[in-house]
Amino acid sequence: MRLNRLCLAGALLLGTLFLGAQTANASTSAVNEYIAAHHIQPVAVTKQIWAGFPKHAYRHGAKKPEGVIVHETGNPSSNITNEIAYMKRNYANGFVHTFIDANHIINIANTNYLAWGAGFPANARFLQFEQVEMHSKSQFAKQAANAAYYTATLLKQYHLKPNDAAYDGKGTVWSHNAVSKFLGGTDHTDPNGYYKSAGRKYFGQAYSMAQLYQLIKKDYETLD
Ligand SMILES: [Zn+2]
Repeated sequence: MRLNRLCLAGALLLGTLFLGAQTANASTSAVNEYIAAHHIQPVAVTKQIWAGFPKHAYRHGAKKPEGVIVHETGNPSSNITNEIAYMKRNYANGFVHTFIDANHIINIANTNYLAWGAGFPANARFLQFEQVEMHSKSQFAKQAANAAYYTATLLKQYHLKPNDAAYDGKGTVWSHNAVSKFLGGTDHTDPNGYYKSAGRKYFGQAYSMAQLYQLIKKDYETLD
């Protein structure tokens, strides 16, 4: 039984690698290579917790998130300051814990409690952050470095191990797209479209969650 399961896991892994080689090869991400070549370092997390957000425990309790959801606003003309101001005014319609751009990681809602960014059932399970759209090569790369680092620090903080949920709907690292696909309650596909178009525009190659996940894993391994 155990052997069979291992064989199945091996077959699935090979299938995934084969697919990966055919589409976007995560190991040769132009964005990730640019980050490494330019020694781009993530910025520190700024806490600007707003007391107005409601505090509801995750399904397993306060301080017990099960992973992180990566979002992107879908707004090509906003900046981090006006996104945060908008969210405070409209939190009843949805809010996330944190916003990220090239130069900021701004945590606005207490991560020990759930946020409302990806519908039911995901909201009761996962931490969530938004990326604001960037408009240059270096800004996009810096933002990716920040997003990966922040995800890795959250996984560490809450004693979670990195595991990309994109392949089987189980794991600790989720795109909003993966939530829509595997959990439902929402139909957004971010950040896939933004990653694809910004990657193509600034690096001549689509960026992907699988490639961001490579950065997350690397960051996680270098954290204490
Ligand atoms: Zn989203």
